[in-house]
Amino acid sequence: MSQRVFNFSAGPATLPEAVLRKAQAALLNWQDIGASVAEISHRSADFMTLAAQAEADLRALLHVPDDYAVLFMQGGATLQQALIALNLAHPGQRADYLITGHWGKTALKQATPYVDAHIVASSEAQGFCNVPARDDWRLSADAAYLHVTDNETIHGVALNLPLDVQVPVIADFSSSIASRPIRVRDYGLIYAGAQKNLGPSGITVVIVAHDLLRRSGQPRAPILDYRAHLERESMLNTPPTFNWYLLGLCLAWMREQGGVAAFAARNAARAQKLYALLDDSNGFYRNPVAVAHRSCMNVPFFLPTPELDAEFVAQAKTRGLIGLKGHKALGGIRASLYNALPDAAVDALIGFMHEFRKHHD
Ligand code: PMP
Repeated sequence: MSQRVFNFSAGPATLPEAVLRKAQAALLNWQDIGASVAEISHRSADFMTLAAQAEADLRALLHVPDDYAVLFMQGGATLQQALIALNLAHPGQRADYLITGHWGKTALKQATPYVDAHIVASSEAQGFCNVPARDDWRLSADAAYLHVTDNETIHGVALNLPLDVQVPVIADFSSSIASRPIRVRDYGLIYAGAQKNLGPSGITVVIVAHDLLRRSGQPRAPILDYRAHLERESMLNTPPTFNWYLLGLCLAWMREQGGVAAFAARNAARAQKLYALLDDSNGFYRNPVAVAHRSCMNVPFFLPTPELDAEFVAQAKTRGLIGLKGHKALGGIRASLYNALPDAAVDALIGFMHEFRKHHD
């Protein structure tokens, strides 16, 4: 019998059970080579085939055009936030940042030593409950790029806006990649730590226009250079092979499940059900985000007191619902509804929320 619970963790997050079982079955002897995939050379033909398949699956899932490179990197999304500035802007060049939550701020912080980072608009004064109106953005004409966060994982804020700017858009898709169809061509570079919607931690996906990689950027060591990583097919140094393998299994699983369009429909329906419950709870459960910018992936909410938040989390755990405690920067509750979360998890959470309210309202 499965001992698995419903896991709403924001990342590292739940993985498809089918993927875990596949990895478990192959842990000692992968593809009849008599060794684990974690024990063989990344340069072996078997591993190179796996890597190529993962790239092909990612390209197919997201409809990545041929003039975009796909890189599999280490160092998480945070490293990318520094590499973007190093690779895509001259020393001290102006770079624009739209701040819609905690992760937009980290992007700005990582880039600040290398560029003249300029905040075009920020919703911080409003507690990151909204996205600044497009007309209020103070864009720089000479910016190397505009950085945005497609989905703010902590505050549960989705950008949900046509960007329509003249400079390349660099987008942090860590918590929303593959959650809905996007037009890759609208972006110069997309990056995402895999540990939320794509697979395990320890591997980060970068999708970047070849055109942008021709920029000279700043003086940097090869290990910090996108072009060097591309030339060596993301194997400039030893890559995280097991993570790459798990990521590949997740990508194949997503394709089998009907791809991004199928997940988008499911994700929207599930989030809608949860937000409807919040909105119909007479203020017992409260989500402060403007309706047009509510995230389908991360749903933060608050009960009337921090004590009730804590009791909610503790009781939920006894019902097999884990990972619901909000991020320490915000408090409250957060339910992350990534692609690998079963529909039954959302139904179980909703059932529990009705019951909890009945006893505490
Ligand atoms: N951006 C977003 C939107 C995130 O949610 C996170 C992690 N929660 C990060 C960046 C940082 O990612 P990492 O820990 O992989 O560096």
